[in-house]
This record gives sequence, structure tokens and C-alpha cells, in this order.
Amino acid sequence: MLEKYEKAGRIASEVLDYAESLVKKGFDLLRVAEMTEKKIADLGGSPAFPVNLSVNEVAAHYTPEKNDRLTVSEDDYLKIDVGVHVDGYIADTARTVVLSGRDDLVKCAEKMLSEAIRVFVPGTRLREVGAVIESVASDFGFSPVRNLTGHGLSRFDLHSGTTVPNFAGGSERELTEGEVYAIEPFVTTGSGWVKDTEKVSIFKYMKDVPCRLPEARRILRMAREDFHGLPFARRWLNFPKTVTDISLRHLVSSGALHPYYILKEVSGAPVAQAEHTVVVADRPKVLTAWTRE
Ligand code: MN
Ligand code: MN
Repeated sequence: MLEKYEKAGRIASEVLDYAESLVKKGFDLLRVAEMTEKKIADLGGSPAFPVNLSVNEVAAHYTPEKNDRLTVSEDDYLKIDVGVHVDGYIADTARTVVLSGRDDLVKCAEKMLSEAIRVFVPGTRLREVGAVIESVASDFGFSPVRNLTGHGLSRFDLHSGTTVPNFAGGSERELTEGEVYAIEPFVTTGSGWVKDTEKVSIFKYMKDVPCRLPEARRILRMAREDFHGLPFARRWLNFPKTVTDISLRHLVSSGALHPYYILKEVSGAPVAQAEHTVVVADRPKVLTAWTRE
């Protein structure tokens, strides 16, 4: 089991570097997403979710659509968030890329993460991890994003129910040896809250429902079987656009699919993120260690 986690972690780390190199070459975000997801497969993994490429005040859940032309400019904060699974064992890692160079907001996100990892040992309470993360943000004069959290990981399950807060709050639960979590502080110059927009490009299987449209039935079966209940992109579906959109709308409104609405910082301020997948131990084990660390 740990070997599969470690393999997923190595692939995720390499793929994150690869995605960053594509952005630096000037590819549009659709190309970056497609090539990055192909790289995951080439290295022997599967995407645990569509590559998220969220820019500036968009905090998370943005993945390009098929006709997307979005590119980034010099000073944009691009959060590249990659998930890889090997036989269901998931590694989840993200960093923020600014072409003109890492500024304090990006450095703050990375320091929030590295300080959280230091205390990720058996016996630490999740609330205490949040306190460490928040205090780094305060030192920099920024706000952590309070309604985004890290999460426990288990096989074919991206959010196993336990959350790692990004501020001094949350549960008294103690970390135990061998547990696997994604730690993902988000930080902003704004108010520190995100809200749903009305846009969605990423979905996840929830339950079976009756469907009159054959395409809706097929999408639901793919969501359950091909994607193993993990998040998938509209972009991954190869049906005509109109019937795809009608099917997805039906499946969301009937509760068959969960929609991951694109999240924006409420005050419109830029957001930076850094994320690693970590095994709780006396010396916390970072499964997704970046090469520049
Ligand atoms: Mn992530
Ligand atoms: Mn995550």
C-alpha cells in the first residue's frame, strides 16, 4: 500500500514540474492540462482528478473546457494542482507559479505548508496544525483562506472525511502514525473566504438515478466505473456538446453527480496555494516532495 502511495507521489511530483515547464513555454492552459494528464498516464499513473489550473482570484476547481483559450500573463498567480492515483492510492500536490517570479504571497503559501509538515507528527491535534498555518500567514500580513481545507486520503477517496484546517480552529482529533493527508494551505491578500461561482467543469459520481437520455446513462456509468467515483472533467467526455451539457445538468439536479463549482475569493483578491501529500510519522514523510526542496 505504501509503495503504491510512494509511486503515486513520485509521479505527481514529476508531473507538477512538467506542467510548470509547459506554462513557462507559453502553452495555453488547455494544452497544459491535456499534456499533463497524458504525462500521468505515460508514467504509469491515472489522474485522481482533472488537472486544476486556477488563476488569480479563482482559488480552485478550474480546469479548461475543450474550447478554452485561456493563457496566463507575467504576473498572474497560477495554481497548478495535480492528483495521481496508482490502484486507487492517491497523491495530491499543488504549487503556485508566477512567471515574473515567486513573490511574498507564493513564499507565504509554501512556508505555511512547510511549517505545517514540521508538526505533522503523531499526537498533534488538527486544530494545532491550523494554528501553525494561520500564524505564518499573519507574520506575512496575509489571510489564510478559511473555508478551504486539507483532507485525509484513503483508497479511491479524495476526501476521507477528516479535514486539515488552514486557521486556528477545527477538530481536536490527534494525528496518528501512518495516516495519509493532503495538507493544502491557501493564502490571499483579500478577506480570506471563497465562494462558489455558477460555473462548473468538474463532477463526481454520487449515486445512480434513472436517466431517459442514453448519453446521461453512459456518463453516469463512466463516472462510477471508469473514473472510480473520483472527480472527472466535462472535457474528458466525448459526446456532442449539447447532449453532454443536458446530460450533466440532469445528473447534477437529480443528485447523481456532485458539481465542483469554480471557487473565487470573495473580495476578488489573488490566492496562492501549496500542497503536499504527507504520511504522519515522527519524521513526517512527504510523498510528493518537489525536486527544488
Ligand atoms: Mn490538490
Ligand atoms: Mn487536495
